[in-house]
Amino acid sequence: MKEVIDFFKVEMKNGGLRFIIKDFMMFLTSSPRKELDEILRIAKKHNCKFTFFVVGRVCDSDPELVKKIAEGGHEIASHAYNHVDYSKLTGKEIEEDLRKSIASLKKLGIKARGFRPPYLLFKKNIYSISKKVGFSYVSGLEKKGQPFKINSIYEAPISPPFDWELIGIKGEKDRKKIMHTWKKQAEAGGVLLFHPWIAGRLFKKEFEELVSFKTPIKIESLINKKKGYSISIDVGGAGVFSIIKRLIK
Ligand SMILES: [Zn+2]
Repeated sequence: MKEVIDFFKVEMKNGGLRFIIKDFMMFLTSSPRKELDEILRIAKKHNCKFTFFVVGRVCDSDPELVKKIAEGGHEIASHAYNHVDYSKLTGKEIEEDLRKSIASLKKLGIKARGFRPPYLLFKKNIYSISKKVGFSYVSGLEKKGQPFKINSIYEAPISPPFDWELIGIKGEKDRKKIMHTWKKQAEAGGVLLFHPWIAGRLFKKEFEELVSFKTPIKIESLINKKKGYSISIDVGGAGVFSIIKRLIK
């Protein structure tokens, strides 16, 4: 809890309380529709494909949204059915939730090849369970670089910084620093993680600059040994809870 309080203190110094409240209200209330439209527009304009990790509940409640993403030729992967902390579930509960998420995508004619654990919280059993339900990869570890094999399934690790670390950053100097980091990560390969609010709204300009700088490919291409880097967008998880959960972990 102390870290959460410290986090808010730092954020207040950086951006002012008003900015934090505005951001957090946005995280809590805004539908990502508009932001996703922007992300899809940017992808089309620069002729690149992303990987979208979609929560199963969203597939069931908003199938049109998911179909629209798929129509852009992007990869759709699973972000669980319920956006819950998998490290607290039994193996059986995880398997059930994953199978439910697979079924929700299948209804839309989509076969998910990969999975990203909600909040990036999980236990080691995630790899064997993911393989059992038919995934080719998990994207859950925080680590720089290209995908690698782990327990006979691929891990497509996520290169820091995570986009939620950018909330509250406003100044041009800080934005330039972030841009520099993203470009370096793109050159080094691996997977970058974004949420719609960052890529499609708060850092839209930087996001577009990044994808035009070096064309991202789908994670499924990365695990098929293609060189390059991927951009992944998590859809349907509550960003603000991710931040708090990670900070108090
Ligand atoms: Zn999430």
